[in-house]
Amino acid sequence: MLDLQGIAKHFGGVHAVDGVDLTVKRGEILGLIGPNGSGKSTIVNLVSGLFPLTSGRILFDGDDISDLPSHARVGLGIARTFQNIRLFGQLSVWQNLWVAQNSRLQRQEMFFTRWFGGSAGVQAEIERTLEFFDLAHKRHELAANLSFGEQRRLEFARAISAKPSLLLLDEPAAGMNAEEVDQLDARIRKMRDDGFTVLLIEHHVELVMSVADRIAVLNFGRKIAEGPPAAVQDDAAVREAYLGT
Ligand code: ADP
Ligand code: MG
Repeated sequence: MLDLQGIAKHFGGVHAVDGVDLTVKRGEILGLIGPNGSGKSTIVNLVSGLFPLTSGRILFDGDDISDLPSHARVGLGIARTFQNIRLFGQLSVWQNLWVAQNSRLQRQEMFFTRWFGGSAGVQAEIERTLEFFDLAHKRHELAANLSFGEQRRLEFARAISAKPSLLLLDEPAAGMNAEEVDQLDARIRKMRDDGFTVLLIEHHVELVMSVADRIAVLNFGRKIAEGPPAAVQDDAAVREAYLGT
């Protein structure tokens, strides 16, 4: 589904991503791990079109999307979360999801939802998403007033509301306590059962080991390992990158 071919991103002299080949297959959860500053978020930013590639190509469903603007990639079904949560703080939980749903609607549907608050289908879908993320009781709360854990859930819910065919999650467990990480683990498993395709960036290695079908490891902007979780965990280069041993 997603095919990164020799992608690189340089910020001046900083080679944040330095020639990475990576594929994400339809229906799989690919974990992407690596020490701080190894280029994980930059890869998400390149795939979502936040900034242009220095070199390489990005293929999505076989088409070269390297030069498409961000909104066009959303239109193709690529959604993401941000490591630093980005919500509309002065909109309610419900409104945040409504806006996200509209990001993929056609103009005619937009008109309809703006005047009638959304078709029954749109409303039902928002309700399902609220339930799935345990946010139904917070539907009228302003996003800015949510607890940190709730904001993380809403950030995740917002991305799903765009009905992505590919979901990019940038450290969804950041700042969560153990119980919240367990719930996140269960949600990601449920999504895999539902056929979602996910690129999961995580610092929380245990979570990735638990939910990912395959794992790729970055260090200094380069891929140093790739394979099933157990093999990656035992890889000498990975241990060195993480533990310096
Ligand atoms: P990770 O997500 O793995 O922690 P990042 O992709 O955020 O790493 O960063 C990789 C490297 O690129 C770091 O050295 C970081 O400082 C640098 N970097 C990331 N984004 C920018 C930017 N917009 N401008 C300059 N340098 C950046
Ligand atoms: Mg990051």
